[in-house]
Amino acid sequence: MQVPETISAGELIANPGMAASFDPPLRLGVFGDPVAHSRSPVFQNAALRACGMHASYTRIHAHASDFPKALRALPQAGFIGANVTIPHKGAALEAVDWADDYARAAGSVNTILVEGEKLLGFNTDGPGLVRAVREEFSVDLRDLRVVLLGAGGGAGRAIAVQCALEGCERLVLANRTLEKAARLARELAPRFLAEKISGPGERIAAISMEAGALKQELANADIVINATSLGMKRSDPPVLPPALITPNLLVFDTVYSSGVSRLLEDAAAAGARCANGLSMLLHQGALSFETWFNQPAPLDAMRRTLASTP
Ligand code: NAP
Repeated sequence: MQVPETISAGELIANPGMAASFDPPLRLGVFGDPVAHSRSPVFQNAALRACGMHASYTRIHAHASDFPKALRALPQAGFIGANVTIPHKGAALEAVDWADDYARAAGSVNTILVEGEKLLGFNTDGPGLVRAVREEFSVDLRDLRVVLLGAGGGAGRAIAVQCALEGCERLVLANRTLEKAARLARELAPRFLAEKISGPGERIAAISMEAGALKQELANADIVINATSLGMKRSDPPVLPPALITPNLLVFDTVYSSGVSRLLEDAAAAGARCANGLSMLLHQGALSFETWFNQPAPLDAMRRTLASTP
């Protein structure tokens, strides 16, 4: 029997042995609530097939109350590892036995490796974005002046920490709730003390999402990254006033769920180079695969499947 598209955390807790009863056996999955939107099974199963691995990957719907217990069932269920998506990434950091430095700094875990009875935590979102920016724009994130929209959210924090680790030329943290961005800027400031290469001004700053402040910062930026949840629905208001997008700006929208988002439509109309979050999704998933199997991920097979499956 093939594994269903979604199982519940409750089923896994009650009967960890069920994982072995599927063909191929269930050895990996993504936890979330909701989780139906996750495209990870599509390309992770393609990767497993391309590498000839007798294992499958599925969605695991987990309420917050079930989530830590379901993680503890993974070793007994014979899982190799798991991914974690909204809203459990912070709880996953609390639940694992060990987490790497980046996951701890990002405050969240999106990848778990089962080692014996222990759960090891990693976060591949930031490193996935670095690879995606390289692939989409043929530039390195570390060389760019970044304006990050949605710096107060989980993805925003992970990206901001990655920008700090990369030693980005400049980082402007923009958030609807300014205090969250200001707190993060204070926390990351020690990583931005070295003298910058171009122009005067602070290397790290926090601003609100107000048009005037954004206009001033975007005029001195190379890339704007949308890590807000705006754009997931077509009815969402624009994340940026279109008039602020100039042709020299690179525009990366981490959102991928709605095809071409309004931000990307506005960026294309302004003549700016732009990319949606599919490449970040692909690369964070490829890095998860590398974490589980300690071998390169079959990127071409994963990319092809992702592109051909809605
Ligand atoms: P989250 O923790 O809920 O954060 C949401 C962020 O959006 C916060 O900064 C929030 O600001 C801001 N926001 C929400 N509504 C807003 C509005 N009406 N106006 C302005 N700002 C608003 O969500 P998350 O987990 O970080 O996810 C954010 C996005 O990242 C999602 O679209 C997700 O798809 C994307 N993502 C993509 C990938 C990928 O692989 N491509 C990976 C991870 C995440 P406040 O702080 O003021 O509430």
